[in-house]
Amino acid sequence: MAENRVVQGRMVTPKKLAEIVEDGDVMEAENIEDADRECPDCGGDVVKVTYMPSVTELVTGYKCQDCDWKEREEA
Ligand SMILES: [Zn+2]
Repeated sequence: MAENRVVQGRMVTPKKLAEIVEDGDVMEAENIEDADRECPDCGGDVVKVTYMPSVTELVTGYKCQDCDWKEREEA
């Protein structure tokens, strides 16, 4: 089951969170986890999601729960 989380005041599914980080469609996303880091912009809590934007790519996306900050890191 997908675990939804609140990001910037709205409930998002793992797939939706991945789409925010990717700024586009993704094929699959794993569960959202707490990232062990703070947002560099606002100091807020950061969550992470591992997802596949395409069959050949695996990306870890980081997103602040409080502001627009996000980062994608290719595995
Ligand atoms: Zn932030």
